[in-house]
Amino acid sequence: MPRKTRITLISTGGTIAGLGQVGHSTGYTAGAVDAQTLLDAIPGVHGLASLRIVPLFSIGSQDFTETHSMLLRQAVMDALNDRQTDAVLVTHGTDTLEETAFFLHLTVPVQSKPVLLTAAMRPASAASADGSGNLRDALHALRSLCASRPVKTPNIWVLMANRLYGAIETSKRNALAPDAFHNQRHCAFLLDEHLEWISAPVEGAWPAGRFASVLDKAMVNWASGKGASQDDFDGLLPEVPVFVCHQDINPKRVAAMLKPVPRGWVIAGVGHGAVPAMLHPLVNKLLQQGCWIMRASRTPEGPVFVSGENPWNQSSFEGRMLASGRLTPWQSRIALQLSLLESDIAA
Ligand code: GLU
Repeated sequence: MPRKTRITLISTGGTIAGLGQVGHSTGYTAGAVDAQTLLDAIPGVHGLASLRIVPLFSIGSQDFTETHSMLLRQAVMDALNDRQTDAVLVTHGTDTLEETAFFLHLTVPVQSKPVLLTAAMRPASAASADGSGNLRDALHALRSLCASRPVKTPNIWVLMANRLYGAIETSKRNALAPDAFHNQRHCAFLLDEHLEWISAPVEGAWPAGRFASVLDKAMVNWASGKGASQDDFDGLLPEVPVFVCHQDINPKRVAAMLKPVPRGWVIAGVGHGAVPAMLHPLVNKLLQQGCWIMRASRTPEGPVFVSGENPWNQSSFEGRMLASGRLTPWQSRIALQLSLLESDIAA
């Protein structure tokens, strides 16, 4: 008989562990149910995998800080280094899942064991709770990923409503529907117990593990820094705020929010990352002051290139004006933070 897949489940909270009035979908507390209780509700779960549970946090993902991301990365890497673990499952809130998945994608070293994040849009107490189905699917997907040869990379995956996404191609697109992450770029579909593959994720400029060793070096420096605690990482990464463009912007208001000047700034422009002309003088001033800027888009689909409806090109301001490609503004923030950290470490 084949050995059961050994899965370490790291729980962080979110709606998947949410509890409220029985039968209701809204008005609940995220992160109120423990992972063992959720698993016990899945028929036949113990025949599917041998599970070790690591209860890490019980929070809504809107409350994630840099410290949470760093502690989760550490927990994932500890599990991957454990010889008794074949695969890692992370339960998470849906609201900022794309940020955590992308952070792990860029910072966990590439290896042969899969890591999968799953979530739910309805609390465990709702009439149409989707968490136990997603959890069961996640276990099947991990079994399938562990069995596939050659190993499927890049290793960090997201599963929601039967679809498997590469971490880089994950974004929440619906605030209420159970298939909240549905986009055309899913890599596989889970049919019963098997993954039907469609395509590999397109990593472009952001390959898996790109900043793994940079972050390890930064952590060593951080730990040796005066008064720095191993459990407090807030401030480790350079600050990079995000601004979403709209009609009729007051540039003075925006300038006030950018004091002192941050190391980086993501502008979620309109359409193909267009920045309204009324902001151009402020943008130029920030670039002159050494701020790195990444143009992204508030529009969910379609890449943002350097060329386009804007006055900046690759040679403007020593290349400090970047374009997000296919990243969401929130993923762009993480990419820029880690890129800035990389240049600090190299300096
Ligand atoms: N806001 C909470 C979170 O992101 C609940 C939303 C959800 O999980 O769907 O964790």
